[in-house]
Amino acid sequence: MKRIAVLTSGGDAPGMNAAVRAVVRIGIHSGLEVFGVRHGYAGLIADEIEPLTARSVGGIMQLGGTFLGSARSEEFKTAPGRSKAIANLASRGIEALVIIGGNGSQAGAYALHREGFPVVGIASTIDNDLPCTDVSIGVDTAVNVALEAIDRLRVTASSHQRAFLVEVMGRKQGYLALAAGLAGGAELIIIPEVPMEPEEIARGLREAYDRGKEHAIAVVAEGAQYNAEAIAQYFREHGERLGFELRVTTLGHVQRGGAPGAFDRLLATRFGAAAVEALIRGETGVVVVIQEGNVRTVPLEEVVHGTKPLDLRLYELAQVLAK
Ligand code: ATP
Repeated sequence: MKRIAVLTSGGDAPGMNAAVRAVVRIGIHSGLEVFGVRHGYAGLIADEIEPLTARSVGGIMQLGGTFLGSARSEEFKTAPGRSKAIANLASRGIEALVIIGGNGSQAGAYALHREGFPVVGIASTIDNDLPCTDVSIGVDTAVNVALEAIDRLRVTASSHQRAFLVEVMGRKQGYLALAAGLAGGAELIIIPEVPMEPEEIARGLREAYDRGKEHAIAVVAEGAQYNAEAIAQYFREHGERLGFELRVTTLGHVQRGGAPGAFDRLLATRFGAAAVEALIRGETGVVVVIQEGNVRTVPLEEVVHGTKPLDLRLYELAQVLAK
């Protein structure tokens, strides 16, 4: 094998740059030529492929996002779209592709693998919903960004005796809300996995004050049965009866943009190196993951067909600790 390419796909995650840097530099160190694909699978189809040198990936490790750009591509979900992508790689003599991304991106990697193109995936998504890995690139930084917001809101909530609601990302999964809420000592955590009515939310916040707390903070995942907007609407309609105001903060994409912390940079660096080492060993059709502290590869099939349910023991712990 002489030529490989690397791309970042789906939602960007802090740490992706460190993973690209490691792929490029370990690749070159191992005697390979490394190409970068701009804008994920869309760029692969549009032939946005360029050679990268050790210098091309200098000064990017501390930046959030991905310098290669990311994208979502409906065309890549079709066989003709993937044929174009494979033809573009083949025309440059590129023999394998490293794909850095979450569930959808690894489903795309699996499709390429089944069509006979050698791929290695790297687990990267802030949602922490990728199966077979304890954690993915970006999770730690995203949790820390949400945590910082919770800590700041607590200061102002204590000063004014106002209840605050912070909405964090997580369309299907409540991991970010749960982790940030638990670490931030939130009074309530509202996640898709545990439905909660607005009346119950209001009661939970009220009880926090009744217990003598100076603050009441709820963390809600955007994909919860009632998201921040729906809960705020309920408080607008029933504010007088509920007897207190609710201030809402939606973090949204702020969470993606954080500068990657040390944990994500180290994880991404180890993942990037392991991906190239796997390809050199002739291993393809796998994803680089971390399990019990060990970086290893697992078959793409297991990742794509697996599930990663939230550990609800953490939710129960948060409930007890909020008392
Ligand atoms: P995140 O978890 O951060 O949102 P992701 O990798 O799950 O990231 P998606 O938007 O789900 O992000 O997927 C990224 C891209 O992967 C899609 O736009 C599409 O091009 C490709 N993809 C997703 N599912 C498939 C599939 N079943 N077959 C082929 N390609 C796919």
